[in-house]
Amino acid sequence: MSIIVQKFGGTSVANESSREKVIEKIIEKKNKGHKIVVVVSAIGRKGDPYATDSLISLINTQYINKRDLDLLMSCGEIISSVVLSNMLTQKGYSTQVLTGGQAGIITDENYGSSKVLSVNTDNIKNKLENNNIIIVAGFQGITSQGDITTLGRGGSDTTAVLLGEALKSEFVEIYTDVDGIMTADPRVVPDAQVIDTINYSDLYNMAEDGAKVIHPKAVEIAERSNLKVKIRNTLSSSDGTTVLRRQGIIDYNDKKIISSITYKDRRTQIIIDNIKNKGKIQSVMNLLTESNISIDLINFSLETNMFTIDDENVMLAEKILSENGYIYSINRDCCKISVVGHKMKGIPGVMSRIINSIFRENIKILQTSDSHSSIWVLVKTKDAIKAMRSLHKEFNLGEK
Ligand code: ADP
Ligand code: MG
Repeated sequence: MSIIVQKFGGTSVANESSREKVIEKIIEKKNKGHKIVVVVSAIGRKGDPYATDSLISLINTQYINKRDLDLLMSCGEIISSVVLSNMLTQKGYSTQVLTGGQAGIITDENYGSSKVLSVNTDNIKNKLENNNIIIVAGFQGITSQGDITTLGRGGSDTTAVLLGEALKSEFVEIYTDVDGIMTADPRVVPDAQVIDTINYSDLYNMAEDGAKVIHPKAVEIAERSNLKVKIRNTLSSSDGTTVLRRQGIIDYNDKKIISSITYKDRRTQIIIDNIKNKGKIQSVMNLLTESNISIDLINFSLETNMFTIDDENVMLAEKILSENGYIYSINRDCCKISVVGHKMKGIPGVMSRIINSIFRENIKILQTSDSHSSIWVLVKTKDAIKAMRSLHKEFNLGEK
């Protein structure tokens, strides 16, 4: 009998009627004879009483240590696990609820963003033997000392894929509030289409560049063990997206050379004039990275050096730059748009199509960069939606 892991995100368990749909998805697979391990997120999103953000809002975060904060944050997933279990038992199914630690997820002590060191599935396997549906609180683990930890935002995706890997499950289903991985965030580009199959690397690039539908770490784990992942909608019966290893050679005649368009908001561009700073630029990277400020979109030339950082690091970066005597300029409220697709490799003219389609909308491009499978464009946040819609159209992504 094969094992299937099903993960349900915050919106999937947000209210009574969506939870009914969750139960249907679980029962459907159970009745097909699979052994089921369910991973759940906390109920709802910001504003909902038991969502992670709501739990944090109960306390003054200045007066809490990271260990206690993790204890608090881990409660949301425990609550939703018990609620789902209760609904299943009412329908006659036997269940076992496990915290992350009880499910064997052992982490380091880096509270708030712990790294999983090992997964011991003995407990889950034992409990599966008695026809139980196992419900695991996502997003959390335990240290070897017995302290509860959390895995960082989006961590339930990681829990699901890690368990899928360790249990050698047939596949992992990630249930969310959209029909699958789409050619763009449907909240931004209304005619975004579901992508039927996608490879790990394109999905990883999307997730890393802001498409929050799945956490990049989860994609990385799935790829290392070639674990099949399906992204599906709790509220519909559509097939969703299947994530697989890239098959065969690339078909360059495929009219869709781009998989998707995604974005990361709240970026700030920093420009350092190399001549005014008399070649001191090399050390700027070290200074910023030493303070844990991550830098991307790095364009270094003889005259000018540009890069972007997250808005939340701007104050610290400015302090470092001015204390070290740098002359720089700063451009806030930027958005990094990513055009993702491994098929663009070696195809001439992709960059010029991107630039032209943004220029056509009279939008200023602040910076560009590219790799073999992504092209990045930095624009002002106020222009981002228009730019993304234009790119989506340029590459025919709205056509099925
Ligand atoms: P969950 O609570 O189920 O984990 P998330 O909010 O983390 O859900 O992720 C789902 C959301 O991801 C969708 O509601 C959608 O707005 C957003 N999203 C961003 N980019 C994409 C994309 N390319 N395809 C699908 N969804 C996307
Ligand atoms: Mg999520």
